[in-house]
Amino acid sequence: MDPLDIVSNLHKVKPVYQPVISAIRHNVIGYEVLGRYDDGEKLISLGDFFLDTDVPEEFKVEVDQHILEIAINDFLESQRTGLLFINRNAKQLMVNDGEDLLNMLILYEEKGFPMDRIVLEVTEHDFDEDFEALNHLLLYYKTYGIQIAVDRVGAKSSNIDRIRQLEPHILKIDTRTIRNHNSDGFQDIMYSLSMLARRIGAAMLFEYIEDDFQLYFAWKYGGRYYQGYYLAKPELTIQAEHKLTVNIGEKVSEYIQREKSLIEQRLVHVLNWEERIKAMLPQWSGNKKVDSFIELVTANFNKESFRMYICDSNGQQISSNFRKQEEDWVVEPDKKGSNWAFRPYFLENMINMKTWNRGTLSDIYSDIDTREMIRTFSFPLSDQYFLFIDIRYSYIYENESLLI
Ligand code: CA
Repeated sequence: MDPLDIVSNLHKVKPVYQPVISAIRHNVIGYEVLGRYDDGEKLISLGDFFLDTDVPEEFKVEVDQHILEIAINDFLESQRTGLLFINRNAKQLMVNDGEDLLNMLILYEEKGFPMDRIVLEVTEHDFDEDFEALNHLLLYYKTYGIQIAVDRVGAKSSNIDRIRQLEPHILKIDTRTIRNHNSDGFQDIMYSLSMLARRIGAAMLFEYIEDDFQLYFAWKYGGRYYQGYYLAKPELTIQAEHKLTVNIGEKVSEYIQREKSLIEQRLVHVLNWEERIKAMLPQWSGNKKVDSFIELVTANFNKESFRMYICDSNGQQISSNFRKQEEDWVVEPDKKGSNWAFRPYFLENMINMKTWNRGTLSDIYSDIDTREMIRTFSFPLSDQYFLFIDIRYSYIYENESLLI
């Protein structure tokens, strides 16, 4: 569409509202406002108009201001509570130092629409512009109570430092990237993002949820808010009681059952491994005969493990490495004397094992030697000596509960 047609026919520009749903109460807690052009027959998305870099920013400001005005009036008339999510790009915000938006919001605050109900979405992509100026402006907006969301997080992981600096209230995660990334890689990105969100106190909102799997993913990775066609499509009116397409309460209780059952199955593995080692403990005769003790263990963990060794309470390896090659266990005496205490959680886990006299299973990590995803099961043989059994990937892969 010709941008001039849009600007000179503002009366044909309308907002549509896409519900944002809370993971806590499964209700609609607000709406994202999107622009549409009504050509008399159908509603045309204004996405292209807003994304087109050739369209003057002043045009975009004008159209956005018009949409916002209708939206706030709709909220006030329908007496709808909750948040109003709006989208602005960095360049557009810089027009008149962002005063157009602020002045309108101040006006509406006087009419009873407080500014802390506004969530301003800026895209991560915008950080490539003048970040300092943008950061400065957003800080200024925040002093008025306006909430900040970073849109389409995850597209560029290099922006983590800037997101941290911005301290947004909400991180919007584009769930479509689950389909584009290999799932292992995306899980790592999600892990870093959820740590970041925790650190800076931001809530995660998963958007573009289009099927059950993506909703499950959003739930599992700690999404506080959900948005997407699977739950609710954008609509022209704001409803007091919004009907969602799926029953989220039912879905979430399915996820909870599934997750609980997987955790229980995993613990069955751990308990079983513990029992097997305890049964061998009478054969443990201290640090003099470590290698012959491990020989016993290899026979018992032939299916699960590909490598094992024993360390003392300072992380010093006191046994050879036992490594499975094809069907045989090969002894590598030169590994004796290695120190593993530098590894993340090593000392913490060791002291826990000693204190509670229980085995422990690590999370999934990539083994530096084999590059395979593995887990380590460890067990306290005594106060001073600890057995480490590396579980091989093929075994983990065959047992879904070990994959989570
Ligand atoms: Ca958005």
